[in-house]
Amino acid sequence: PSLSVSLPSTATEFPRSHQQIANPSNTTNFIDNEFVKSNTAEWIDLHDPATNYLVTRVPQSTNEELRAAVESAQKAFPAWRATSIIAKQYIIFKFVGLIRANWDRLAATITLEQGKTLKDARGDVLRGLQVAETACGITTQLTGEVLEVARDMETRSYREPLGVVAAICPFNFPAMIPLWSIPIATVTGNCLILKPSERDPGAAMILAELAREAGFPKGVLNIIHGGPKTVNFILDEPSIKAISFVGSNSAGEYIYTRGSANGKRVQANLGAKNHAVLLPDADKNAALDAIVGAAFGAAGQRCMALSVLVTVGETSEWLPGVIARAKDLIVSGGFEKDSDVGPLISAQSKNRVENLITSAQEEGAEILLDGRGYKPAKYPNGNFVGPTVITNVTQNMACYREEIFGPVLVCISTQTVEEAVQLVNANEYGNGASVFTRSGTLASYFQRNIEAGQIGINVPIPVPLPMFSFTGNKKSVAGGGVSTFYGKPGLNFYTQQKTVTSLWREESSGLKKQVVMPAHL
Ligand code: NAD
Repeated sequence: PSLSVSLPSTATEFPRSHQQIANPSNTTNFIDNEFVKSNTAEWIDLHDPATNYLVTRVPQSTNEELRAAVESAQKAFPAWRATSIIAKQYIIFKFVGLIRANWDRLAATITLEQGKTLKDARGDVLRGLQVAETACGITTQLTGEVLEVARDMETRSYREPLGVVAAICPFNFPAMIPLWSIPIATVTGNCLILKPSERDPGAAMILAELAREAGFPKGVLNIIHGGPKTVNFILDEPSIKAISFVGSNSAGEYIYTRGSANGKRVQANLGAKNHAVLLPDADKNAALDAIVGAAFGAAGQRCMALSVLVTVGETSEWLPGVIARAKDLIVSGGFEKDSDVGPLISAQSKNRVENLITSAQEEGAEILLDGRGYKPAKYPNGNFVGPTVITNVTQNMACYREEIFGPVLVCISTQTVEEAVQLVNANEYGNGASVFTRSGTLASYFQRNIEAGQIGINVPIPVPLPMFSFTGNKKSVAGGGVSTFYGKPGLNFYTQQKTVTSLWREESSGLKKQVVMPAHL
């Protein structure tokens, strides 16, 4: 059956185009279930990436506001912790229903602020919604263990919430990544302070409204805004016990180090350079469609985008097929019905991506398809870069070493699958890698030998569904990837394990004073 679900529209008005907004309103904080105006003097302008019109101004929340969010969460925790698991589950069920009912509205906000196409924005919401749906099964997921370990003695282990926890989110999935934390952190009994990306907080604000409507008590979810100042506040606030971070290496490595030094749990998913390895026995058309979709979809601004194509043997001759498909993609504003590729998040990103393409040319690579300077007629002021394909790339070039995070596919060729695997493993990132082949033997060789955390076999973007966990590797995660997002490890991250050993015996006469370590034999 098709997974597409008919999308109900909501009564609430929301943007459906890139038209200039007459009087953009400022983004508020969300504290104690209220949307509160910020008193700050520091505002961050947020522009529609397709037009660069002002959409809203996001506050650099003041210290008092950040403190108010923490106090609200601390105050809410005892009652929330004591709320029955069934009552929490019921709230998450309602939250899921409301996300579904507001799917269109969430997606439209994402298209307006982040730039991705409306269809893709719906996928962003769906992948987060699936995490919330899975969290509805908490009553069977959070059970502990009990064992009778000796006569009249049993040991039980169970999980308790940590208290106040925080999430710091990136710009590229404004609904999905907040939803990696909101349902799991709260259903396990914690109070969450979420800092969305200052570049597109709109979807998180709608999620806050829906959480309130679903019955989340005051303080269980608070949202604060800002850049590094807000992050530093979170890192140094003693009552915040755990931090979930998704974003770049430069921010994430700093956050992991400072957060850990302050005694907090930190889970941190970072940057990527994902390789697609194309073998000569692959289903050519299916593989090229998959690779082009995963390289240029979301304008390459996905942490699991396939940004490197490794052609093995004769598949280097298949590049005209890649170019033809890439040329077919329509680059335009995300609200345009036929748009396949939207703009980049900012003018700075556009410059950075175009400079990396130029550096490739200067370092001796060949630009087979050049998207620099692309301007859709209707959106001359947007941050667009057209699909770009670079060949004759070598491992020392900046375009290969750096995460480009734009619609750019760099191509390298090898003679054998062994060489391809060595090449992928030599890269310091380890988020995802895909192989395209009809051979089970070669797929199995690839799967066993690749060091990336998420492998696709004829699957271009193998992001695990929420019953599994997002398992990056190497430089794509901080701390060796011990704490991964969602799935069983996600539940473990947000809970403290407690183990109780108890002895209940009518007469204690059998027990003598024991000064050696008890072995309970
Ligand atoms: P970013 O690191 O610039 O921002 C992420 C968050 O960190 C934001 O909330 C931002 O306010 C904060 N931040 C940024 N710089 C900071 C600093 N110097 N000090 C303290 N806080 C800081 O990332 P981005 O550009 O929003 O997102 C894109 C990056 O995220 C890419 O590298 C992408 O690969 C990565 N990403 C990874 C995954 C994954 O699961 N591995 C998923 C999505 C995105």
